[in-house]
This record gives sequence, C-alpha cells and structure tokens, in this order.
Amino acid sequence: MHPQSIIVIGSSNTDMVIKTEKFPLPGETLLGGEFFMFPGGKGANQAVAAARLGGNVTFITKIGNDIFGKQALQQFINEGIRTDLIIDDSEHPSGVALITVDAKGENTIVVAQGSNGVLTTQDLSKIKTEIEQHDILLMQLEIPMSTVLYAAQTASQQNKKVILNPAPAALLPDEIYKTLFLITPNESEAEIISGTKISNDESIKRVAQKIKDRGVKNVIITLGSRGVYVLTNVEEKFIPAPIVKAIDTTAAGDVFNGALTVAIAEGQSLSDAVIFANQAAAISVTKMGAQASAPFRKEISKETTSH
Ligand code: ADP
Repeated sequence: MHPQSIIVIGSSNTDMVIKTEKFPLPGETLLGGEFFMFPGGKGANQAVAAARLGGNVTFITKIGNDIFGKQALQQFINEGIRTDLIIDDSEHPSGVALITVDAKGENTIVVAQGSNGVLTTQDLSKIKTEIEQHDILLMQLEIPMSTVLYAAQTASQQNKKVILNPAPAALLPDEIYKTLFLITPNESEAEIISGTKISNDESIKRVAQKIKDRGVKNVIITLGSRGVYVLTNVEEKFIPAPIVKAIDTTAAGDVFNGALTVAIAEGQSLSDAVIFANQAAAISVTKMGAQASAPFRKEISKETTSH
C-alpha cells in the first residue's frame, strides 16, 4: 500500500547548551565548559523522526529571518522533509533554548519561543487547502493553542486523522477532543489533562478512560521505560518497551510520536504501530541528543515489527 502523507505542524528551536561545573547564582558570571548547538523543538524533532523512519513528511513551522532559521530549514531539507509550506517571519527571531548542564547532569532551560509563539490561525488559513490535502496531521503544544485547535478542526472536517502529542503539558479546549483520532500524553501530561493523579496501573486506566470519554477515538499514555498503555474502542492493554540501557531520554516522546505516525500512515494496526514506536524510541534513549538520536528505518529490527 502507498503510505499516507503526514503533515507535522509545530515548533522549531535551536538548543544552545553550555556545560558548567555549577550553575551561576543571580548576578554571577561563570566561565563554563564546552558549548554545543543542536536543532530542537518538538515539532521539528517529530518531523525529523518521522522522515528518518520513511514517512512522507511535510513540516509547517515558523522561522525568523536569521541564521538559526536558515540552519533549521537546511536541516529539514537534508532530512528529506517537504519544506515549501514553512512560514517566514520577518518580525520575530527564530525560537531558541538556552540550556546549562551542570556536573551532575542537572539542567536549567530558558526558551525564547520567538516565531513559534506567533504561528497563528491566519498563517494556517492561507495554506488551508494544502493542509487538507494531507492524510495525517501530527501536532504538539509548542505553538499557540488556538492554532492547534484550528488545524485539528480543519483536518478532522476533511476526515483526516489528527494525532496530538499534548506536550508540554497544558489544559486542552473542550472542542478539541472530538477532532482527535489519537492523543499521546506521557504520565504527567495525562494527569494534568484529566485532573487525576496517577499512582498505579488502575489509575492509568482510569485516566485514559476519562480522556477517551471526552471524545478522542484512541488514547495512548506513554510510560517511559515501561512502554505504553493503549485504550481504543475495541481493546485496552499495556504494551512494554524493549529493555535497553538508557543514556539520554531527551526527545524519547518525540521519536515515539514520529514513529507511531509513520506506522499508522503505512496502515499498521494501532498495536503494531505502538510496537514499532516503542522500538524506535527505545533506540533513541541509547543515544545522546534530540534529533541526533532519532533512528533510521534500517535500525529497527524486522522480527519485532512484523507481528
Ligand atoms: P516523554 O519523553 O515525552 O516524557 P516517555 O518518558 O513516556 O515520554 O517516553 C516515551 C516513550 O519512549 C516510551 O513510551 C517508550 O517507548 C520510550 N522510552 C522512554 N524511556 C525509555 C527507556 N528507559 N527504555 C526504553 N524505552 C523508553
């Protein structure tokens, strides 16, 4: 079967990281250690993960007229992502995250959303027809909620599948739930969305049911090294992740969502798509970095994907 087309609408950031023995106190200047610059942003991470795994991916994001935006764009092109719908912002800088990591591996992060924060419904309404032409829409919450809602409504009105990874955690507008084919919170996001604490397996199930009752077709709660809990109209089950030695879990959720979307676009069942996504995300936690750790298709082993 010809795989369905995927459109990711979301953020793009440049992460700038300085390693330091200890964090500076207010007013203090420190000479730190090494400096690294990485492409990031949940939207970009998920688009790159999906493209590396063989997805037919269009990415919509908003970038400033600066070196960071230009570099990000080149990176998307290198990854084989369709970029012609990316929106240029002449008024705001591209999104950046300033990150410090201390000797214990703790971090502090300050994000300047820049153009991500002004990716508006008006921007999307100009390319509504192009959005509608894609089969699956994948989004996160690093762009304005009104934009996410508009895109979700636009796609679902055309009977397209909408997948929402509700990260970073935020309360969702009531109207969005019925537009969603699938929602994929992690545990803390699921708690915030549902307003219910998770303490054991029973409460995971309760939280998933509560979210599903609002009108979402399928709910997947990701559980870190434990894998996921899936709730659909026909089944509910825990699906474990492969056991690996985790080195860096940054963007595990992003790789999971990118991979899941690719498998769904290929027509795999939700269970098989989860097995594939668990595998891809597990590989990513064995490597450093966000986009850098997203695996390529050939790295995913055949036996476990062909159930
Ligand atoms: P987030 O990164 O958004 O907080 P999770 O921590 O739930 O989300 O991780 C998302 C997915 O990544 C998990 O469902 C699982 O597939 C995979 N994953 C995360 N941590 C590990 C780990 N230590 N070992 C194996 N897989 C992992």
